[in-house]
Amino acid sequence: MEKICVAVRVRPPILTQEGSSNGSFWKVEDKRISLHKPIGGSPISAVSYTFDHVFDQDSANSTVYELLTKDIIRAAVQGFNGTAFAYGQTSSGKTYTMNGSQSDPGIVPLAVKDVFHNIQTITNREFLIRVSYMEIYNEDINDLLSTENQKLQVHESLEHGIFVAGLREEIVNSPEQVLELIESGEVNRHFGETNMNARSSRSHTIFRMVIESKGKEVTSSGDYSGNSDAIRVSVLNLVDLAGSERIVKTGAGGVRLKEGKHINKSLLILGNVINKLSEGGKQRGHIPYRDSKLTRILQPALGGNAKTSIICTLAPEEVHIEETKGTLLFASRAK
Ligand code: ADP
Ligand code: MG
Repeated sequence: MEKICVAVRVRPPILTQEGSSNGSFWKVEDKRISLHKPIGGSPISAVSYTFDHVFDQDSANSTVYELLTKDIIRAAVQGFNGTAFAYGQTSSGKTYTMNGSQSDPGIVPLAVKDVFHNIQTITNREFLIRVSYMEIYNEDINDLLSTENQKLQVHESLEHGIFVAGLREEIVNSPEQVLELIESGEVNRHFGETNMNARSSRSHTIFRMVIESKGKEVTSSGDYSGNSDAIRVSVLNLVDLAGSERIVKTGAGGVRLKEGKHINKSLLILGNVINKLSEGGKQRGHIPYRDSKLTRILQPALGGNAKTSIICTLAPEEVHIEETKGTLLFASRAK
């Protein structure tokens, strides 16, 4: 069983319209994070945690990638499944971390580039790469690479294991092609939405690469015959989770409330699954993968030989302290 790598990242404080901010309430020292007064810097309480990595507000996506995802990509190209998550409340920097900006590309574009770079260095195997992109919203699975707007189901078979039936998979040959597909997926996602921010903070998105390879056999004449039975297939999931904030009961009737319940439930189950996995050993007992679509879909690439990392993103402002403590608790349970 691989150990799950857990990191937290504090985003920079968001400036007010007047251009000021009341600073960060979280102090980062090496792998430790603790609650401090921004002015004077004295500790506010005994809240303090250590993780595999702690990234402060000045850290770039490339640094996060190097320390948290690079190894997962390398292993994926060699046949091991892997999953990287971003967890945190809305506005804490999950999407920034996964997608990045023009000047600071995120985990997804860096991973895509690295996959293609890695396969070029392995000259004795042939590769086939497929990508898919899906969203889980209210426990419905939507294919972001399809305009058909169909709800997809999870199935299991002896031949295929656990799979999302009907999910579109595109064969890709370059990082540019993948990034174009992702962009088209974003367009599909927002089609017909009146409030796209609300929706995107309430859904999980899973970007998936399936990396298949087979050995090239060298014949006596020095050519590759290409028929080796050593086929490897690995699945890589890069997941931007729904916002982890607790829903405010007042005014959130009907649809909103239903959404909140689903999100809380699937994040809770994800937490339970990860917690069980990180306990390891024989005593950990039943792992409740089946209790949510998210964990069910990710099951083959969570646990076992799969490599997993979680980045928990934090909003540093005072108003977010309670949610931030909740995120740190989630992170510490995953260790
Ligand atoms: P989430 O996806 O968790 O809701 P976002 O990624 O959309 O949050 O981030 C909220 C805002 O903060 C965005 O404007 C984003 O550009 C900015 N932001 C988040 N993290 C960083 C960071 N590490 N550096 C600079 N800006 C950031
Ligand atoms: Mg987001």
